[in-house]
Amino acid sequence: MQPYVLIVEDEPGIADLLDYNLKASGFDTGIATDGDEAELALAERLPDAVLLDWMLPGVSGIELCRRIRRRPASRALPIILLTARGEEADRIRGLDSGADDYVTKPFSPTEVIARLKAVLRRSNPAVTEEKLVYEDLSMDLITHRVQRSGQKIHLGPTEFRLLQYFMQRPGRVFSREQLLDAVWGHDIYVEMRTVDVHIRRLRKALNIEGNPDLIRTVRSAGYALDASGD
Ligand code: CA
Repeated sequence: MQPYVLIVEDEPGIADLLDYNLKASGFDTGIATDGDEAELALAERLPDAVLLDWMLPGVSGIELCRRIRRRPASRALPIILLTARGEEADRIRGLDSGADDYVTKPFSPTEVIARLKAVLRRSNPAVTEEKLVYEDLSMDLITHRVQRSGQKIHLGPTEFRLLQYFMQRPGRVFSREQLLDAVWGHDIYVEMRTVDVHIRRLRKALNIEGNPDLIRTVRSAGYALDASGD
């Protein structure tokens, strides 16, 4: 699976260098050249990580970092600051703002990618994995094979993406809106009840032969992948 990284950088040379190298390393990327563009990009699709330039025109990287941290949806989003400044005080201030790590310019793309993989592993181990396992359920992201208790399970593409999203974040409750954004994306219009329809299909496919229900419905909140009961 390709982790999606948003690059926020106003210098086209650096943005392109990062974009090129990230893509070559299997990342999906987006570029924003200032704070406003970054905010739009973040609202459109929540990335798995952000590479954030410190010195941006308008809203600074630090301020943007604080804004990202203030919002519940992006509170835990891994952020790596790109900074040309080397002073210790600035570094500490950068980390105070909520950044997970920083890289000082000039940097090698290899170094940035290594740091990126490290923060991704910490924040969401599943994002760098090829196989997801939860209870008796397994999902191979390369071959798209899904099994429960060793039995093959057939899923449609939407149910597959739904299950993948849940398995990368087991136990967490997601609202219909959050699932729509994550699985269907912002760019298409889908009714809320469409989520229920696909959850029903997913549940039916997973709960074969009297196996316990792995999808928990949380009244007026949403759904979670949760084997702990109910
Ligand atoms: Ca800059």
